[in-house]
Amino acid sequence: MKILSAEFIKSASKPSEYPKGGLPELAIAGKSNVGKSSLINALVNRKNLAKISSTPGRTQMINFFQINGKLSLVDLPGYGYAKVPLQVRQTWKPMVESYLQTREDIRLVILIIDARRGASAGDLNLLDWLDYHRIPSLIVLTKTDKLSQIERAQQKKNLSQNPFLSNRPFLFFSAVSAEGKDELWKIIRQYVKVDL
Ligand code: GDP
Repeated sequence: MKILSAEFIKSASKPSEYPKGGLPELAIAGKSNVGKSSLINALVNRKNLAKISSTPGRTQMINFFQINGKLSLVDLPGYGYAKVPLQVRQTWKPMVESYLQTREDIRLVILIIDARRGASAGDLNLLDWLDYHRIPSLIVLTKTDKLSQIERAQQKKNLSQNPFLSNRPFLFFSAVSAEGKDELWKIIRQYVKVDL
């Protein structure tokens, strides 16, 4: 995948602030600290692109990027982080839900999960919500460079034994080793249906 350009467009917290739509959109969600920024940076071959999302004032916002002028990439605020004040945590749900419900350009939501920890209650809630609204989702298990072969097999087994997760597509990924990167682009291209 050749990245010719990867630009930050803007941060938004409500629909009136979203940038103009029209491009196929890929949204990326996950718990705080799960490795979302690292995955975005690895995907677009930039060291610090997603760092913009962690600058003060932007961590709890929806951050819009544009890749090669053809794909809109959206970094959703992380959830489930105890250090975030309750008041901020309570704004996450309406902010993200109104984005997911109103933005017609969304083609796929990637849900990032720490491969060592497995799915949290917050992850399962989001998947359930996406199913209900018929929004396609893909589970990406990241930080696989930290897994032994035994742990990897165990995680696969955990997924296949969880009735809620067993029939879903998932992919192992590592921002450190770049495992899964080409495969992830391949899947993204199938959903966004655009020649990037
Ligand atoms: P975010 O809060 O979800 O954006 O998470 P970050 O991308 O900032 O990552 C959180 C921590 O996990 C950082 O210390 C990263 O270096 C580390 N990390 C992220 N992805 C990987 C990975 O694939 N492998 C390893 N070993 N560490 C990772």
